[in-house]
Amino acid sequence: MRLDVVTIFPEYLEPLNVSLVGKARARGQLNVHVHDLRGWTYDRHNTVDDTPYGGGPGMVMKTDPWGDALDTVLADGYESGAHAPALIVPTPSGRPFTQELAVELSERPWLIFTPARYEGIDRRVMDEYATRLPVYEVSIGDYVLAGGEAAVLVVTEAVARLLPGVLGNAESHRDDSFAPGAMANLLEGPVYTKPPVWRGRDIPEVLLSGHHGKIARWRRDEALKRTTANRPDLIERCDPKAFDKKDREM
Ligand code: SAM
Repeated sequence: MRLDVVTIFPEYLEPLNVSLVGKARARGQLNVHVHDLRGWTYDRHNTVDDTPYGGGPGMVMKTDPWGDALDTVLADGYESGAHAPALIVPTPSGRPFTQELAVELSERPWLIFTPARYEGIDRRVMDEYATRLPVYEVSIGDYVLAGGEAAVLVVTEAVARLLPGVLGNAESHRDDSFAPGAMANLLEGPVYTKPPVWRGRDIPEVLLSGHHGKIARWRRDEALKRTTANRPDLIERCDPKAFDKKDREM
């Protein structure tokens, strides 16, 4: 997969060199290009923003640097053989970023991120590129960040771990919270590792039983308990047929 990020803070994307994403890059599973938007400004102050039409506080990112940057990135990508680009626009007014969307994006060969600053990017930029490419306006949560770079890191990490061969064990995300299936919206329950007793605290006995059926049932019960406590809204989105008598008594 190819990833391009256009930003006024390229250094903010340094974490893309470490851990899972960094390793995926080193193995050639992810081809990442970070671009400085100011490289497409032509005045002495490298201006990327201006006052908003209609008045009001804050500044708006200008059309020209973004248009020139995106045209260059697209031309470069096509030239190197990349295809089917999609624009990922972080914005608090976008659709919520979910595991389902992470799966959808992980199936695309080329993502181009446009993290903004100030009050965001002049709308005409998105309208222009939406005539040529799929544009995903994505929010990582109901809060407002100072800029979209942190959102790029979030989306990239969620997508990268779904790419074939990136996680050491391909089964690792099968039991994750939000994993697909009839109980798709359950959160994962608690997890434990050695030692079996820590500061007088035991691990649940069933986990030592070696009985796969009982362990699976316990995990499911815990997932249901945790989801009911923390995200009751998710329970409503599960397939009702997936619940049995014991679930309903909980
Ligand atoms: N005025 C904008 C609004 O209220 O929708 C907020 C602009 S915010 C200060 C600057 C930039 O941070 C946004 O354009 C976007 O790139 C990024 N950003 C802020 N919150 C975000 C969120 N929840 N999800 C994704 N990106 C976000």
